[in-house]
Amino acid sequence: MKCKLCNNKAAINLRAYNTSLCKAHFLSFVEKRVTETIRKYKLLNKGDSVLVAVSGGKDSLSLWHILTKFGYAPEGLYIDLGINGYSDRSLKKVLSFAKEVKARLWVVSLKEIFGLGIKELARVLKRPYCSACGTFKRYLMNRISMERNLRVLATGHNLDDEVSSLLGNLLYWKEEYLWKKNVVLEEYEGHLAKKIKPFFLISEREIAAYAFLSGIDYIYEECPYSVGAKTLLYKEILSRIEDQSPGTKLMFLKGYLKRLKAEKEGREQGPVSYCTICNYPSWGQKCVFCSLTERLDIPYKFEYKEYDFSK
Ligand code: SF4
Ligand code: ZN
Ligand code: ZN
Repeated sequence: MKCKLCNNKAAINLRAYNTSLCKAHFLSFVEKRVTETIRKYKLLNKGDSVLVAVSGGKDSLSLWHILTKFGYAPEGLYIDLGINGYSDRSLKKVLSFAKEVKARLWVVSLKEIFGLGIKELARVLKRPYCSACGTFKRYLMNRISMERNLRVLATGHNLDDEVSSLLGNLLYWKEEYLWKKNVVLEEYEGHLAKKIKPFFLISEREIAAYAFLSGIDYIYEECPYSVGAKTLLYKEILSRIEDQSPGTKLMFLKGYLKRLKAEKEGREQGPVSYCTICNYPSWGQKCVFCSLTERLDIPYKFEYKEYDFSK
């Protein structure tokens, strides 16, 4: 198999694009598509201060790598979920990556705040692990990016993450979530950071190859609570469809983005309510962070650590 552009040995075959590329051409192909996504959807402007949410996995570390390469000098945020062994191993990867790119890293730990990890917190809340985890992550990412004045929050969600969650929303007609998915969510009145997903149109396989070929040292292991998650089943099914009809995932998501534009027109943004204690957006009178602090009867503390490798 030869690279379609230079005739050297191909490193990857991209059936969705009907092409094969060598290492150098594949890396620039991914970077070019990220650049196009950033430009087309107005994700970033020169001089924006960016916080990248990192888990130690291929997506988030590749995103940190690319945004650094593009000159945005992003800082990283790692949320330590307190999962035995897994959290320590992923933090180690994140710390060594931060050192390598000479960046600042913020680390917030659920155990240090609440004395409990995500498993125990989910039990207190009587919610599935991933649902509780999502709620905490959203709150912590937003609050830390606002507090640090890093007004653009970038996450490594990829095409496969997005199409599987879209399929899940469609299968169960979760209309309340269906039209909330987007490449970019704008900043909201100084309370919500601008959220961007530069890998929205890039597949998991492409990112895995990008990380591997760039020599990024990421954690291969998945979160132990992802086992049996429905999104994994949807990913598997969609990948089987993709095998038969290359390009389907991309068409599915691009079609969604087109309809999203029409759906949003004329719709008002839903009212956002604010927590009476911390003043950050919440669903009820108090946000989940403040309600838990009260329920667990622990002193209010919102702390995170700074590791500055930029000097
Ligand atoms: Fe959180 Fe793990 Fe669930 Fe992902 S799989 S949402 S990291 S608990
Ligand atoms: Zn080539
Ligand atoms: Zn609150």
